[in-house]
Amino acid sequence: MSKSNSVPNLQIMTKCPMCSASYKKDDIKVINKNDGSLSIYLNCSHCKSSVVMLLMAGPMGVTSISIPTDITEEDFEKINSSDAVSCDDVLEMYKFLKDN
Ligand SMILES: [Zn+2]
Repeated sequence: MSKSNSVPNLQIMTKCPMCSASYKKDDIKVINKNDGSLSIYLNCSHCKSSVVMLLMAGPMGVTSISIPTDITEEDFEKINSSDAVSCDDVLEMYKFLKDN
């Protein structure tokens, strides 16, 4: 058995669930990247629908959840500049994960 630190085949959606158009490279944005989890924002340039995708690495492999959203890119700038999640919350989470 070989263990590698590389990310296994990520099942990133390559097609828009609404209109089946293929996403272009510019349509895909990484919102958040942590150890073992990745948030991706997919914005279809064809039908303008948006999906947020969460990828989590766990003992069973990579789990992906996609959530249709109406968040726009402009909203992201607002989210990123606000303190919705404090550093303390993240630290607490890390401690929790470490202890288990
Ligand atoms: Zn679309």
